[in-house]
Amino acid sequence: MQESSDQSIDQRKTPKIWVLTLFPNHFKEFISTGVIGRLFSDKSVEIECLYLGDFSPKSFKGVDGTPYGGGPGMVMRADVLKACLDEVINLGGYKNPKEDLEVIYTAPRGKVFNNNDAHELKEKFIERERDLVFICGRYEGIDERFIESYVDQIYSIGDFVLSGGELAVQCIIDSLCRFLPSALGNDQSAAQDSFEDGLIEGPIYTKPRDFEGKEVPKELLSGNHKLIKSYNEAKKVEYTKKYRPDLYNEYRKTKS
Ligand code: SAM
Repeated sequence: MQESSDQSIDQRKTPKIWVLTLFPNHFKEFISTGVIGRLFSDKSVEIECLYLGDFSPKSFKGVDGTPYGGGPGMVMRADVLKACLDEVINLGGYKNPKEDLEVIYTAPRGKVFNNNDAHELKEKFIERERDLVFICGRYEGIDERFIESYVDQIYSIGDFVLSGGELAVQCIIDSLCRFLPSALGNDQSAAQDSFEDGLIEGPIYTKPRDFEGKEVPKELLSGNHKLIKSYNEAKKVEYTKKYRPDLYNEYRKTKS
């Protein structure tokens, strides 16, 4: 970054997320709604979406070409993506882009993104002061040469194929931004959420106490904090075993 690395996080310029996309409108609701909307509106984090069509060498703003060697669909051009990345570097004033930026592409071939990755990315973003650049793929994906030269990390959000990277990028931004200090109040601490201790959340209830003959478990109505805590802990283990046996097996290994 432009500033010295020993400064406190408070003194750092606002962390920034850049999104390179053919559909900037996709992000309008996302960055103005709920917890994530608050983070962006109070400027805890900045986001800027660049429209890839503006970096096309063609008058009609085309960003794709037919695949060499044949095959279906179109491929996003490396030169268009590079021109857009150069604009990020220019607008952000990054002196050492390789150090200052983490460039992330999403694709089915990537590592399936999980809670640990969200923590790691948040750490790079906040503690190590790297701004994030997300490339949203469309068509059949992007030219491999751009990935080789400029992409630091590829993430998938699951073993299925989306028509574009915008939703995947929003999932990743949402999950890592929830870890920012100003995102959640104390009563909503992310530390109590699923995956934080290797387990998923147990069942939760609210009013009415009786719903179609089903009562809220009596332990939760007891007012006995110790009993409530041990009930909730036991349920987390029970639910992890039931819904995520893979995580439960890992959890058991750490306990034995
Ligand atoms: N031809 C690609 C393949 O078979 O792997 C799929 C391309 S997909 C139609 C278009 C874009 O959507 C991709 O470039 C990627 O950015 C995004 N995408 C699709 N599935 C995804 C997933 N599971 N996780 C993250 N991004 C995905």
